[in-house]
Amino acid sequence: MGSETSVANAAESLGVDETNLKLRNLDAAGRVRWAVETFGENAVLLSSMQKTSSVIVHLFYELGLKNEVLFVDTGFHFHETLWIRDEFMRRYRINMVTLYPALTPAQQEEKYQAKLFNFVDGQPQCCAMRKEEPFINYVKEKGRRVVMTGLMKSEGGKRGKLEPLMKDPRIKGFTLQPIFDWEEAQVEAYLKEHDVPVHPLHAQSYPSIGCQVCTTPVKPGEDARAGRWRHLRGEGEDGPRYCGINFTDGSGI
Ligand code: SF4
Repeated sequence: MGSETSVANAAESLGVDETNLKLRNLDAAGRVRWAVETFGENAVLLSSMQKTSSVIVHLFYELGLKNEVLFVDTGFHFHETLWIRDEFMRRYRINMVTLYPALTPAQQEEKYQAKLFNFVDGQPQCCAMRKEEPFINYVKEKGRRVVMTGLMKSEGGKRGKLEPLMKDPRIKGFTLQPIFDWEEAQVEAYLKEHDVPVHPLHAQSYPSIGCQVCTTPVKPGEDARAGRWRHLRGEGEDGPRYCGINFTDGSGI
């Protein structure tokens, strides 16, 4: 039996509940190793360049993995986000794959005659075109089967019910959260212990970082995602807090 057939069989017969019993007893490195042993090169990381995914970038380095680290360049990122992507490539020689939307920001504005991100009904469309589609199209085209993320249950909200392994029907595969059971303090301790570069904006009151045009710092007492799409919410109103790139919680990085 060839190795590709073995991987395909392993994927088809994977019982998520049963696998999670095993994954819960492994540490983060063990979970990453399981994904690579099970899916080979079809195990990838989706990285936002924020600190939780930086932990997994570093685990890839420590484990000597050449599996792909996917990064979606929306065309609206802070320059610090692009800087840390490049720093990871320089320092860890990881196999970074930058994905791009079909249209440039200027082409999109020309086509829709609007900056979609400035409108409540335009933002989901903008996020779908600039984040979700490039990611899903690539994963499907390449046949990747498990996508690792840096999401944690302790983030609360829609992420409070995360499991280590979850199905993602969009890619006919799975998402794996190697640090699903970590707390913020563990992330901080890991990054410090291993001297991992951290997105510079985290130290400037940005606990959650997305596109520059849709992200602001948070004020004392606000929740970690309060700075996301603030311009689409009136004072005290509810509004978008997530995009759709992560299927596991219908939310975004
Ligand atoms: S975060 Fe804003 S700019 Fe970025 S893709 Fe979503 S709506 Fe567009």
